[in-house]
Amino acid sequence: MHKICVIPGDGVGPEVTDSALTILECLDVPLSIEKTQVGLESYERSGAYLTDGALEMASEADAILFGSLTTPRDPNYVSPLLLMRWNLDLYANVRPARCLNPEFCLSPLDVIIVRENTEGLYGAVERELDDGKIVTERTLSEDGCKRIVEFAFKYTIARKRKKVSCIHKANVLRTSDEMFRKLFYGSAVNYAFYEKIKSDDYLVDATAMYLAKEPERFDVIVTLNLYGDILSDEAAGLTGGLGFAPSANIGDEHALFEPIHGSAPDIANMDIANPTGSILSAAMMLDHLGFLDRAQMIHDAINLVYSDKNRWTKDIGGRCGTEEFTWHVKNEIEKMAAVR
Ligand code: ATP
Repeated sequence: MHKICVIPGDGVGPEVTDSALTILECLDVPLSIEKTQVGLESYERSGAYLTDGALEMASEADAILFGSLTTPRDPNYVSPLLLMRWNLDLYANVRPARCLNPEFCLSPLDVIIVRENTEGLYGAVERELDDGKIVTERTLSEDGCKRIVEFAFKYTIARKRKKVSCIHKANVLRTSDEMFRKLFYGSAVNYAFYEKIKSDDYLVDATAMYLAKEPERFDVIVTLNLYGDILSDEAAGLTGGLGFAPSANIGDEHALFEPIHGSAPDIANMDIANPTGSILSAAMMLDHLGFLDRAQMIHDAINLVYSDKNRWTKDIGGRCGTEEFTWHVKNEIEKMAAVR
C-alpha cells in the first residue's frame, strides 16, 4: 500500500484534484489516501499557510498529490509550495507538454521540460540600495546544476527519449549560465558514449521562438528555474492551455505531483476548470510509484476523449464541464479494464 498525501489547496485546486482522485479510484491501485489543507483555508483555521502537521504528513507520504494555491496580498507570505520544494528538496521539476490533438494545438509539441526547482531567482532575496536601485539575488551552485543535469539524462533514458537540450543565457550570464552549460556537456559526453543520448544547447530566447516554430528540435529540455517556469507555460499554451499540463517535483526522498496552472480564482467553483493537467499529474505519480500500465491507461483514456470534439473541455471551445469530462475519462478506463 502506498501512502498518498493529497493537498487540494485553493481556487480550482479542489475541483481538479477531485477529478484526479476519481480517476485513481477507478484504476484500483493500492493507495491509502490522506488529505490535508494548505493555503488560505489553513491560514483561516490555524494562522499558518503551511502548518508543521501538514508538512510532516507530506514528508511521511510516498507521494504528494497537489492542487493549486492562491497567492494572497500578505507581504509576509512565503508560498507553501516553495517551502515544500525546499524542505523536501524537490529539486527536479518535470513538465511534459504533448499535443493531444492537432485541432486545438498551436504546435505539434512533444517535449519534456526538466526545470531546476530549488535555486535561481526563486529565493526572492531582494534589497534596495542607497541610490534606490533594487538588487535581486540569483543563486546557482555547481552541485545544484550537476544534479539537475544528471537527473535530466537519467529521466531521458528511463522514458526512452533520445536527446537532451540545455537551455541557458550563457552569452550574457557568462559565469553562472556558462557554468551550467559546461557542466551539462561534462555529463553529456558520458551519456553519448554509454547510452547514445544526443545533446545540444540553445539560448533561452531562441528556444521560446523554436518551441512555437520548429518544435521538432526538442525532445527533453534541461534548464534553470525561471527559464523553465516561463518555457513550460509557453509549451502548455502551445498544446491547448494551462489546464492541459501536468508536472512532477522530484527529489531523492520525496515527490509531489501537481498541474502547472495556478488557482485560477476567476473560474473556481464553476465546473469549467480543465482537470487534464491534474489527471495527468496523477498518471505521473503512478508512473513514479511503478504502476506503469495504469499510468498508460490514463494517457490512453485522455487521448480517446480528446479525439472526439463532443468531449472537449470548455477552455478549448468544447462543451464539457469539469465533472462531465472526468466522467468520460473514467468511462474510457472502465471500458479498457473490462476487455483486459
Ligand atoms: P495564481 O495566482 O494562483 O497563480 P492565476 O489566475 O494568476 O492564479 P493561473 O491560475 O495559472 O494564474 O491561470 C491563469 C488563467 O488561466 C486563469 O485565470 C484561467 O482563466 C486559466 N486557467 C488556469 N487553469 C485553468 C484550468 N485548469 N482550466 C481552464 N482554464 C484555466
